[in-house]
Amino acid sequence: MDAALGLYPGSMPRYEYRCRPCGDTFEVSRPMAESSAPAPCPAGHEDTVKLLSTVAVGGAPSAAPAPAPAGGGDGGGGCCGGGCCG
Ligand SMILES: [Zn+2]
Repeated sequence: MDAALGLYPGSMPRYEYRCRPCGDTFEVSRPMAESSAPAPCPAGHEDTVKLLSTVAVGGAPSAAPAPAPAGGGDGGGGCCGGGCCG
């Protein structure tokens, strides 16, 4: 068995760069070990700057409401808190 083919994980983080000559942004998927390496734009320019690391997770909602704790157990004033249920 040749294990040399399965070195990379299935999902690589994406990094966003901006090309100064083009003035456009582009994304590059690369291993984290190469996150700081220069990334030439699709047009071949090497004068690019790395933007904030945006790891695309697949369109997760920005503001997910935290699950509110179920009533009771916090304050001890509820019916089930005092053991009157049942
Ligand atoms: Zn460019």
